[in-house]
Amino acid sequence: MTRGEFEIIASIARRIPAPGRDVVVGEGDDCAVIRCDAREDLLVTTDLLLEGRHFLPDAAPQDVGWKALAVSISDVAAMGGRPRHAVAAIALRPQQTGAYADGLATGLLRCARRHGVDLVGGDTNATDGPAVVCVTLTGKVARGRAVLRSGARVGDAICVTGALGGSLARRHLRVTPRVAEAAALVRGGRVHAMIDLSDGLSSDLGHVLDASRVGAEVWADAVPVHRDARRASAQDGRSALAHALDDGEDFELLFTVPERRARSLAKSGLAGTPVAWIGRITRRGYVLRDREGGPGRAMIRGGHDHFRSP
Ligand code: ADP
Ligand code: MG
Repeated sequence: MTRGEFEIIASIARRIPAPGRDVVVGEGDDCAVIRCDAREDLLVTTDLLLEGRHFLPDAAPQDVGWKALAVSISDVAAMGGRPRHAVAAIALRPQQTGAYADGLATGLLRCARRHGVDLVGGDTNATDGPAVVCVTLTGKVARGRAVLRSGARVGDAICVTGALGGSLARRHLRVTPRVAEAAALVRGGRVHAMIDLSDGLSSDLGHVLDASRVGAEVWADAVPVHRDARRASAQDGRSALAHALDDGEDFELLFTVPERRARSLAKSGLAGTPVAWIGRITRRGYVLRDREGGPGRAMIRGGHDHFRSP
C-alpha cells in the first residue's frame, strides 16, 4: 500500500535525532528556525516544482521561475520573517537549454528583486525526465519572534487574508506572497499561530490544529470564496465553498489572534489586502458550521496530497 505525503514526512521526522541546540524549530513548520545571533534568527525553507505536476510544459518559463521562488517567500512570510538569500537548483530537458532557461532566470530574478532576495547560487543539470526547479530560501526574523504553527490557543479567532479557491485555472503560477501583510500583522503583535495556504484551508488549518493540540470550528458563511472558485464550481459541479476549503495553491496567510484583534483586522485588512474572520480555535474536534452558532458537521481534510491526487 502506498503512503500519503504526510505519512512519508512523518516517517522521516520520527527518525530525525534530537537536533543541535541552535535548532529552535526543526521539521514540521513552514520554515526551520535556526538561532544565529543575539538579534535575529535564521529561517530556512525549500520547495520543489516538477514539470507536469506543478506547472505544465507549455507554461511560460518566466512564470515558472517566479513561482519557484514565490512559494518559498510565502513560507518565510508565514513565519513573520523577511526573505533574504536564495539558491536555485534546476534540471532541464535538452529542448529547454535556450530561451526556456533564460525565461526561467528572468522570472526568478524578477521575483528576487521584488522581494529583496539575493540569488547566491544553485546547481544546474540535464534531465531526460520532466524539468525540476528547486529553490532553497533563507529569511530573517527578530530573535524568538518567529510565528509558529504550534501557538494557537483555545478561544483564538481564525483569520485568512484574501479569497480562496479555484487558483488552478488561472492564477496558480502568479503567486503573490503575502510578505507585507505578514509584516504588518506581526508589527501589531499577539499573533499566536500562522501558516501559508499551500495544500488547501481544510488541510493547512489541520496542520495548525495538530501542531497546537487544539480543535477548531470554521463558519462556512465567513469563508472568503474567490470568484475563480465560483467559476470552477460552475464547471465541475463541486460547490464553490468546497473549492475554497480544499483547493491548494492559494498562498494566502491563515493565522490565529485574540478576538479583539480579529475584529479590527476584519475592518482594516492588512497592507491593502482584506482579512476574513472565519472561525474559532476550540479545545478539540474539527467542525464546519453553516455560520457561527449554526449546525455543524465534521470538517474533512480534503486538501492536496502529492501521492493521493492525480
Ligand atoms: P509547506 O507546504 O509549508 O512547504 P510541506 O507540506 O511541504 O510544507 O512540508 C511540511 C513539513 O514537512 C515542513 O516542515 C517540511 O520541512 C517537512 N518536510 C517535507 N518533506 C521533508 C523531507 N523529505 N524530509 C524532512 N522534512 C520534510
Ligand atoms: Mg507553508
